[in-house]
Formats: sequence, structure tokens, C-alpha cells
Amino acid sequence: MEEKVKILIADDEESILGMLSEVLTDDGYDVTTATSAEEALEHFKSDPFPLVFTDIRMSGMNGIELLQQIRNISKEAQVVVITSHASIDTAITALREGAYDYMMKPFEDIDIISVVAERALEKFRLIEDNMRLIADLKIKNMELEEANSALSDLAVRDGLTGVYNHRYFHEAFMTELERANRYRHPLSLLFIDVDHFKDFNDTHGHQRGDQALIDIASIIQGHVRNIDIVARYGGEEFVVLLSETENDEALKVAEKLRRSVEDHPMEGAEAHSKVKITISTGVSTSPDNGSKTVELIKYADKALYRAKNGGRNAVCS
Ligand code: GH3
Ligand code: MG
Ligand code: MG
Repeated sequence: MEEKVKILIADDEESILGMLSEVLTDDGYDVTTATSAEEALEHFKSDPFPLVFTDIRMSGMNGIELLQQIRNISKEAQVVVITSHASIDTAITALREGAYDYMMKPFEDIDIISVVAERALEKFRLIEDNMRLIADLKIKNMELEEANSALSDLAVRDGLTGVYNHRYFHEAFMTELERANRYRHPLSLLFIDVDHFKDFNDTHGHQRGDQALIDIASIIQGHVRNIDIVARYGGEEFVVLLSETENDEALKVAEKLRRSVEDHPMEGAEAHSKVKITISTGVSTSPDNGSKTVELIKYADKALYRAKNGGRNAVCS
């Protein structure tokens, strides 16, 4: 069975209270009565009503004050004031304070009570629906923002290792280099290649190889500053952009990375087996080795070639 809609009535005149209560109970509402505004407020505080009928003139707290108190508790509850004087002034004050409507007593036509109650409750339901929609909309907006940021992250990150992808690196490299040139600040590039990685894959399997790449990316990321840009250049090659960094400083960073990877054996094919992996790095620095991205990449690539030829697990500049 559907729960009855609750209505609260406050009036210090028993006859009015009785009549309103009878009409509204007959209409199928669950009616609570109070003979003072204080009593009505207690009822409302313990459980808010969607609709309140209140006399304006009562000893103690009057109807307007009750209306204000109710407004403080609930924004959606509807209040209909009842005034015995044909004084339109108090009724208008009540409307200004947020009453839904006013009724004059004595009631000439009791049907008007039912009509007013129905309309006031309709307004209550509209406000409630509206508030629910706004709350839903806020949640949807938040979900959308999260999805958007995840999406834009996906576009710039490498799917396997989570570091930046090749495309993002190129964009960032151009922007960083332009800035470095403009202010005549140094910018260094590390070109990192995993040594004998084909052999690692052949011996331990592609899956272990993938995990090793994830671990290496994480080691690199963990050893540079937040402002430095780490990207997967492709396959088993990584690049690092070190802003405001001279060549000798970049060599130190590269050496630190080389040692960290060497000291962190990777999971091999055999259970609990640890396999040493090493990296080789070529370093170039702007403006010493060029002022264009292609020049710096070419220089770092050549340095990497020398590191490989010299026996790998090395840094060259
Ligand atoms: P070098 O020391 O000269 O760099 O030898 P290398 O074997 O590392 O170089 P090579 O270019 O011959 O081989 C690169 C290997 O990297 C081959 C390829 O299977 C492996 N590789 C590239 N991308 C991935 C990847 O995403 N996952 C795995 N598991 N392996 C990859
Ligand atoms: Mg390679
Ligand atoms: Mg390699």
C-alpha cells in the first residue's frame, strides 16, 4: 500500500483545526495537528512534512515565525498560511517570506482546502524532482570529467609502461627546446636502449620482457625530477628530457640510471630466478650539440651507438 502524504496543521482555534483535519483526512492524507506554533515546530523538527497549514495569529510564536523556522530546516516544504482578518497585509508578508499561498477564514467553500493542498503538494514534488535531477547531473558531470581526463591521459601515455608516448615526446621536445633556445638555457636529452633485449625475450619469453620494460620505465621515472619528461621512444628504447640541465649533469643522471637498472635484476622465466639487464645511453645537450630536435636526436643516437660498440652497459656523450 502506498504511504499516505503527511500534512501538518497548526491553529489555536480547535474548530478550525478540526475542520481542516477532517477535510484533509477525508482526502486521504495523514494529518498531524498542533494547537501552537511551538508544538508544530517540534513535530516538524522530528520529521519534516511536505505541507504545513498554519494560522498566522497564535499566542506565543506566530505563523510567520513558524514559516521562517520551517524554511531554515527545509527548502522544499510548502507552507499555507491561514488568516482570520481580511488583512491582506499579513498574508502578503507571509508570501514574501516564502509561503506558498494564504487562505481566509472562515472558509466559505471547504473544497478550496483540498485544491490548495493538492497544488501545494504538486509544487513540493516538482522541487523535489528538480533537486534530484540537479544532484544526478552533478554526479554525471563528475563522471564525465573523470572519463575525459582518463581519455586525454590515454592519448599521451604509452599503454604498456605508463610513461609518455612517442608523439607526446616530440611535441614536448619542440616546446622545451624552443623555450631553452629563447632563454639560452641548457636542455639535455638521454637516449636509452636496453642491451641484448632480443636475447632476453628469446630466453625468458615476451611476457617477462614486457614486465622488464615496465620495471625499467619505473626505475627511470623514479630517478628523475617531476619536471623531466620520460617517454617510450619505441620498442625497448626510452628517452628522457632534462630541462635546465648541462651536459655534465645529464651524464651523471644517465650514469645513475645505468647503475640502478644494473642493480635491479628482473624476473626470469624460471620461478624466482633473477636476471641482470643493462641499458646503454647516448646523451646530447642543447646548445652544445645542436639547437634543433633532429640534430640533438642524431647526436644522442650516435653517442648511443658508441656506447653499444664499446661493450654496452655504458653512457656516452
Ligand atoms: P642491442 O643491445 O644491440 O640493443 O640488442 P637488442 O637485442 O636489444 O636490439 P634489437 O634491436 O636487435 O632487439 C630489440 C628487441 O626488443 C627485439 C624486440 O622483440 C624487443 N622488443 C621491442 N618491443 C618490445 C615489447 O614491447 N615487449 C617485449 N617483450 N619485447 C620488445
Ligand atoms: Mg633498440
Ligand atoms: Mg636494444
